[in-house]
Amino acid sequence: MPRAFITGITGQDGLYLSELLLRKGYEVFGLLRGQNNPKAQLVREAVPGVRLLTGDLADLSSLLRALRAAQPDEIYNLGAISYVAYSWENADLTTDVTGKGVLNMLEAARLYAGDDLSRVRFYQASSSEMFGKVQEVPQRETTLLWPRSPYGVAKVYGHYMTINYRESYGLHASSGILFNHESPRRGPEFVTRKVSQAVARIALGLQDELVLGNLEAKRDWGFAGDYVDAMWRMLQQPEGDEYVVATGQTHSIRDLLDVAFGYVGIDDWSSLVSQDEQFMRPAEVDLLLGDATKARERLGWTPTVAFPDLVAMMIEYDLAEQRKLAGL
Ligand code: GDP
Repeated sequence: MPRAFITGITGQDGLYLSELLLRKGYEVFGLLRGQNNPKAQLVREAVPGVRLLTGDLADLSSLLRALRAAQPDEIYNLGAISYVAYSWENADLTTDVTGKGVLNMLEAARLYAGDDLSRVRFYQASSSEMFGKVQEVPQRETTLLWPRSPYGVAKVYGHYMTINYRESYGLHASSGILFNHESPRRGPEFVTRKVSQAVARIALGLQDELVLGNLEAKRDWGFAGDYVDAMWRMLQQPEGDEYVVATGQTHSIRDLLDVAFGYVGIDDWSSLVSQDEQFMRPAEVDLLLGDATKARERLGWTPTVAFPDLVAMMIEYDLAEQRKLAGL
């Protein structure tokens, strides 16, 4: 039975990846941070088969201990402080966890594997935020990186450190440059979920306005359930490598609002949405659009959920959840 070790187990991707690997017959170990982490319960309920271990990306020896307990064949490093807006307010912490945490995880993997590095494969969750002020459209694996937030800069560090462990030690290490990926499990601080929750509440008469930041930014949004499959495929290749994972379609926040409000029968949302400075960023990533040709050709990976279906999936989930919460 293959064994997988996942950091960031409580996040959207950790949960989808666990489900995928359990379906494939893996034994799955998830790393939880902190003492008595309240999210442990969420993981136990969502994916009961996962075995939880404690450790912190900022603490190398805790990672090594967890790896020795789990004895994994595959390590998926999904853990990070992942919210871009928050990363300006906590740049130091973001650098430690999202950046240096990758070095800690790589080094723990190397020490755990000992004389035989081939016993373990490593996946690093790189991000389209590394493209930032984009130097090429669409963005591909070779596009010059130009991050625009402490989060993006930290991800660039992790990306190159992963490449360095492959080139320096021969570790089977891959980076997935994943473009924004969403689902009903997305945290409500991200714009898609903020919109799907608000639209559901407005449709149910529980809320009357939605306050957002920049409506002109464009993102290449895909379904998280599809994207974790690309992660697994990367680790099944003979060699580690870098891959862009994206849909190849981009939409503005305005398009998102059109589709989301349209889904509940509201064609003109202008009186329901306002903008506020507090949701604007010191530097914006204006346009993300990925070219996933390499992932398609080498991994046989293609996205299966189109943008309107993704939005509909999230709103349906939020309609049911909000009805339940409101006792409707
Ligand atoms: P990101 O691409 O990882 O930063 O994902 P987000 O979902 O947080 O943001 C996507 C885009 O939506 C960014 O360009 C934000 O500036 C824009 N945006 C506009 N209004 C909001 C808002 O109220 N919350 C968030 N999170 N993003 C917003």
